Amino acid sequence: MNGIETCDVVIIGGAIMGSSAAYWLSRMNPALDILVIEPDPSYAQSSTALSVASVRQQFTTAVNVEISRFGIEFIKNVQNWLGQGGGVQSLGFQENGYLFLSGSAESETVLRQACAMQREKGAQTELLTPDALKARFDWLNVDDIHLASFGAKDEGWFDNMSLLGGFRKAAQHQGVRFLRDRVVDIDGVNGQVATVTLENGGVVSAGAIINAAGTSASDLLRMLDEDYPVEPRKRTVFMVDAPNAIHPDAPLMVCHSGFYLRPEHNHWICAIVPKDDHVAEKDDFEPDLHLFEDSLWPKLYERASGFDAVKVLSAWAGHYAYNTLDQNAIIGRHPNWKNLFLMNGFSGHGLQQAPAVGRGIAELLLYGRYQTIDLSDLGVERILEGKPFSEKAIV
Ligand SMILES: Cc1cc2nc3c(=O)[nH]c(=O)nc-3n(C[C@H](O)[C@H](O)[C@H](O)COP(=O)(O)OP(=O)(O)OC[C@H]3O[C@@H](n4cnc5c(N)ncnc54)[C@H](O)[C@@H]3O)c2cc1C
Repeated sequence: MNGIETCDVVIIGGAIMGSSAAYWLSRMNPALDILVIEPDPSYAQSSTALSVASVRQQFTTAVNVEISRFGIEFIKNVQNWLGQGGGVQSLGFQENGYLFLSGSAESETVLRQACAMQREKGAQTELLTPDALKARFDWLNVDDIHLASFGAKDEGWFDNMSLLGGFRKAAQHQGVRFLRDRVVDIDGVNGQVATVTLENGGVVSAGAIINAAGTSASDLLRMLDEDYPVEPRKRTVFMVDAPNAIHPDAPLMVCHSGFYLRPEHNHWICAIVPKDDHVAEKDDFEPDLHLFEDSLWPKLYERASGFDAVKVLSAWAGHYAYNTLDQNAIIGRHPNWKNLFLMNGFSGHGLQQAPAVGRGIAELLLYGRYQTIDLSDLGVERILEGKPFSEKAIV
């Protein structure tokens, strides 16, 4: 593209959030001229592609439960939602559940309160005492467990790239244009974003701009001299063969000691939060292999039977778009820029949130307010005021 192009909405970043917003906007208003700018159609380094692609109802804030309630509805009925244009029949949802283990009185209280709230919102979370946990999953060591919470329904994992492909195709089917390019500058005057400049020389002027740039979200805000607490944090994921660990009923287990584990066909996927968690270099996608032997394997071995003999088959590193204020999403209109909309900072739980967040941002942009789920708790105002809205069930 050369010269100035004009459109109604420019979406910066075309992975799961940008594509979801494009799908919902074009569904709600087919007359809109929507341009999605995405530099890498392979999505190789996006969080979306490097995700562990799991969905749960077990959050500690009501808005996150509501977001995931809609997320699972969408995942289970993807063909109905996306229609012929999406070209996806199923996301292969594997409903093995999520299991949170608590190892202290304090986290036990959090589980109890969260479970009551989740059930009120329609989730089917159950609390399990150590004995009940052992009866259900006899391969687990429950010696140090105070309490567990388990969601057997509406929790599990699915095909992330088919969800992305479906949103993209459905949006294109509804008239959205995807342009392979990168935004390198944003100009604004009098509280209004005027144009975005592209790496290849083009300039786009739009009525509204959506920042869906994942770990680069802060770079875009910096172009408008705005601080933003989103930074890349590296997470290494291991694919492991453990031939003695035969537990076909295994859920995605989140252990209080900081790791998670779930089956993947005949193997296992697992990861642990690094002790020295810090901002990552943008181009550092080298897996931190030492984490497996140093900290992950001993914890697996202690927690579940059959992890005596293990072989790491592969490992990959992805970046969380980590919100350093409260590890929760930042969604809404920027108070200082009346035509700038944000969908950022999803940390480790954005994939499942894309259906509800894309719908919400489309509602806000088109109608000036949320019409289905009220996402205001996740608004930008709290960021500017430095007031965290904390989600305690962070993985
Ligand atoms: C290891 C790992 C495991 C995860 N597991 C889960 C899970 O189990 N469940 C879950 O719900 N979530 C999970 N997540 C989180 C989830 O993947 C992310 O929250 C979600 O994918 C974020 O989507 P996004 O579209 O905001 O960002 P991204 O997928 O990172 O996409 C951002 C896009 O913006 C583009 N972009 C960047 N800069 C520019 C620019 N200047 N101009 C134009 N385009 C630009 C990029 O090319 C990229 O395609 C995980 C993440 C990781 C890394």
